[in-house]
Amino acid sequence: MQTKINSLYHIAIAVRDIDKAEKLFTQAFGLEVVHREVVEEQGVKTSMLKAKEGKTAIELIEPLNESSPISKFLEKRGEGIHHICFRVEDIESILRHLKEMGIQLIDESPRPGAYGAKVAFIHPKAVNGVLIELAELSESHNETS
Ligand code: ZN
Repeated sequence: MQTKINSLYHIAIAVRDIDKAEKLFTQAFGLEVVHREVVEEQGVKTSMLKAKEGKTAIELIEPLNESSPISKFLEKRGEGIHHICFRVEDIESILRHLKEMGIQLIDESPRPGAYGAKVAFIHPKAVNGVLIELAELSESHNETS
């Protein structure tokens, strides 16, 4: 089986103050906020922004509390790029395939993410130090939102 990645869905940036960061990205760079969501399961507040012609979004993520993995990231590394996300169609079969290849996964099975997506993370040790998220979006999710 071949791993099928549909697109680079978003690049996520960990921030301490999402309102401030949103202001910067909208006012300084002219991006547009297309979605905001609090994802309790992952302990984060997120904001998705897009450029005029871009399909790939910028996702700002602020921790909801101290136990959020983003809190730990900010403590250790400070603000900055946290992960990149690939959009996929069949997340379960891709995870199986990666596992068969011996690639270290953080999530062996998908969990609920923002936008009603099924998401799973691949360990950065397995991918050149980059944390990668896979996201399978629900049927109702269209390209523009
Ligand atoms: Zn993400």
